[in-house]
Amino acid sequence: MSNNILIIAEGRAEGLKKVSYELVNMAQTLAAALGGAVEGAVVGSNVGAWAETLAKTGVTKVYVADDKGLEHFAPESYTTALAAVINAAQPAIVLFGATGWGKEVSARVAARLDWGLATDCTAAQIENGALVLTRPVYAGKAIAHVQAKSFPVMVSMRPNLVPPAEADKSAAPLQTVAVTLAAPRAQVVEAMVKEKSKVDLGEANVVISGGRGVKGPEGFAPLNELADTLNAAIGASRAAVDAGWIDYSHQIGQTGKTVAPKLYIAAGISGAIQHLAGMSSSKVIVAINKDPDAPIFKIADYGIVADLFDVIPALNAALKAQAN
Ligand SMILES: Cc1cc2nc3c(=O)[nH]c(=O)nc-3n(C[C@H](O)[C@H](O)[C@H](O)COP(=O)(O)OP(=O)(O)OC[C@H]3O[C@@H](n4cnc5c(N)ncnc54)[C@H](O)[C@@H]3O)c2cc1C
Repeated sequence: MSNNILIIAEGRAEGLKKVSYELVNMAQTLAAALGGAVEGAVVGSNVGAWAETLAKTGVTKVYVADDKGLEHFAPESYTTALAAVINAAQPAIVLFGATGWGKEVSARVAARLDWGLATDCTAAQIENGALVLTRPVYAGKAIAHVQAKSFPVMVSMRPNLVPPAEADKSAAPLQTVAVTLAAPRAQVVEAMVKEKSKVDLGEANVVISGGRGVKGPEGFAPLNELADTLNAAIGASRAAVDAGWIDYSHQIGQTGKTVAPKLYIAAGISGAIQHLAGMSSSKVIVAINKDPDAPIFKIADYGIVADLFDVIPALNAALKAQAN
C-alpha cells in the first residue's frame, strides 16, 4: 500500500461530472498531509476522453479500465472493474463522490475488497496521521466525526464542498487496467432518459425548491423562471412530488437527493426533518414561507415571511434588472 489518494471519476455522455474535479482538489489537501500523490481512475466503455481530461487536473497518473462490457451501468461489472483499478493502484485512501452512482458502487467495492467505507462525508482531514471524516447523521440533526482506524480506507464525499480542479495542467500518464468481466446476473437492455434538466440537481450551485405551498404543477412556473435567471436547478419537497406536481427525480431529502449548493431557496416548504436531511449542508439557505413559525426558518440564513407568488417574481424581476 502506498500513501497515495485515488479519486474515482464519474461521467455521463456529456463528459466528466463536476464532482470528479472537486475530488481532485480534496485529494490534493489530503495527499499533502499524508505525504502521497493524487491519482485518478476512470472506468466505463469508450472513456479515453474522460481519462485524458482527468490527466490534466494535476493528478500524477490515471488508471483506465475501458471495456465494452461497461457500456451500460451494471453494478456487478463496475464493482469488478473498480476493484481491479484499486488493486492496481494500491492507494491509502479512495475517494468517491457521494452521488447516486458513487454511493452504489462504493458500498459494493468496499464489500468486495473488505475495506472500511465512510459514506456521505462533508469534510475529510488528516489528524496525527489518521483520516478524520465529518458525517451528518440522523437526517442532519447531528454531526459525527469518524476516525478511520487504519488504511486503506474508502470515503464518499458530497458534491459542492470545494471548488473543482482545473484541467489545465500538463497531462499525466495513463495506465490501462485489464478487467475480466463475468456476464452480469442483471443486464441493462436499454437506457431511457426520462427528463433532461438544464442543470444537474446534484451539482448545481443554486437550487430552488418548491413544496406544497406552490399549490400545483403550474406553481413551479415562477420557480422555473427564476431558475433560468440564476442558472439554478429545480428541487422539490416530497409533498410536491407525491401530489404529482413534479417528477421524483427532483425530490430533495431523506428519500430523495442530497444537495449542498452555494444557495438553496426553499419556497413554500415547511422544513420537515426529512426534507432538511437533503439540504441542510447548503452554504446559504433562503426560506420563503407565509407562516412565520415554519420550522424551515430555524435553519434559514435569510427568512422571508411572505407569499412566494409575490416574492419569486419580484426577485426574478430585480435580478434581471440588475443584470441589464
Ligand atoms: C419516511 C419518510 C421519508 C420522507 N422523505 C422526505 C423527503 O425525502 N423529502 C421531503 O421533502 N419530505 C420527505 N418526507 C415528508 C416530510 O415529512 C414532509 O411531509 C414534507 O417534507 C412536507 O413537504 P412541504 O414542506 O412541501 O409541505 P407542508 O409541510 O405542507 O408545508 C407547506 C408550507 O408551505 C407554506 N405555504 C403555503 N402557501 C404558501 C405561499 N403561497 N407562499 C409561501 N409559503 C406558503 C406553508 O406555510 C407551509 O409551511 C418524508 C416523510 C417520511 C415519513
